[in-house]
Amino acid sequence: MSRRRPDPGITSHEPFTVDSGFHRALRAWFRQVRRPLPWRQSRDPYRIWVSEVMLQQTQVATVIPYFHRFLETFPTLSDLAAASEQDVLRAWEGLGYYRRARSLHRAARILARDHGGEIPHDAEALARLPGIGRYTLGAILSQAFDQRYPAVDANVARVLCRLAAWDKPLETSSTQRWLHATAETILPERKVGEFNQALMELGSLICKSSGPKCLLCPVRSWCRSAQRGLQELLPRKAKAKELHTVVEAAVVLRRRNRLLLVKRSENSVRWAGLWEFPHDGLRNGEDVPTALCRLVENDLGLRVSLGDHLGIITYGVTRFRYQMHVHVAKVVGGRLRLRNHGEARWMRQDQLADLPMPSPQRRVVRLLEETASQQRVQRSPKPSSPIQCRTCNGTTRNESCGNPDGRTTAWRRRWSSSARDRQAGRRRSMRLGPI
Ligand code: SF4
Repeated sequence: MSRRRPDPGITSHEPFTVDSGFHRALRAWFRQVRRPLPWRQSRDPYRIWVSEVMLQQTQVATVIPYFHRFLETFPTLSDLAAASEQDVLRAWEGLGYYRRARSLHRAARILARDHGGEIPHDAEALARLPGIGRYTLGAILSQAFDQRYPAVDANVARVLCRLAAWDKPLETSSTQRWLHATAETILPERKVGEFNQALMELGSLICKSSGPKCLLCPVRSWCRSAQRGLQELLPRKAKAKELHTVVEAAVVLRRRNRLLLVKRSENSVRWAGLWEFPHDGLRNGEDVPTALCRLVENDLGLRVSLGDHLGIITYGVTRFRYQMHVHVAKVVGGRLRLRNHGEARWMRQDQLADLPMPSPQRRVVRLLEETASQQRVQRSPKPSSPIQCRTCNGTTRNESCGNPDGRTTAWRRRWSSSARDRQAGRRRSMRLGPI
């Protein structure tokens, strides 16, 4: 079935306003259905701030365990300010978008230094902190201090576009301006934090991106899209960006039982300050072994003996899909130099748990552990089966009990009568125990 395009003649760009009935209906619905999320248990600005930073680009269900772990590690703003950046990144590990953690940490240090460890009520002071954008500012001020600020996240943007039947693509600057102006216009006088959360909850539970449940919607009477049957078509989105595949070569360099880890520089666009195994994308026409040679010899100045291919790690970042081929190699010479990284360490494998690493690199560690455990299983001697001798009626392990027929050293050999044995006319006086 073909999807109808929104008709600019039908959809509207006139201002969208609501009355107090809208606020009452939304609030009453929210009080019935609100999820008991851990950051909703109090109005502590620190908890609200941490949760809002974590929720940027990340789903609620993913954030919950990280939120608990982070708050256990850094229960107060002072604890966060006093921690090292490496500890903060380690606590954040797995949540991605590490710039958020670094900004949170820097902001905590500024607040500890300049504001006595308190989060300010003042919008200007708050907006000057690193990592506090328009959304986070509105969320903290409205939820913690009940100030009249809107908080427009992806859920709220979708709800507003549908309520007002706004048909311009979400990503355009005119839509963004309209969204913030409209979100401000419809704020109630009181309980603004609750109202902002109710709009977000509406977007999460009812006005979902696909399949909005309009029949269950508490504000259906105010919704222009529902009245005009446009709810499935709005908001309009810009054309999806094409996905690109990138093949990478990564190497686990081993020297006397230690592995080489390098730290990404503080200016890296992605994963700044995190540790990783050396890796790089394949360049014009290179294959993986050639890229590994370039990486190890040219960039790191080492000579190696290349070992096994450990596996392929696949992961996605924005519109890129990465395939990282991981090899192990033993260092046989050369002198380590760093061209693209700020720091390097030779570490035992059991020390890697304390290092903050990007998720794909943590998966390389798991791959190493799995390979080592498989190798241990292959190397370990098989348990011998007890051999019971009918003559001595005793149990031995690969040792003769005195009976010449008991001198067999064959592992788990079944003493069935083979054709050769029958020819030799030998009688079996022994049998193996259960295998
Ligand atoms: S009526 Fe439908 S489209 Fe309108 S806000 Fe409610 S769920 Fe969204």
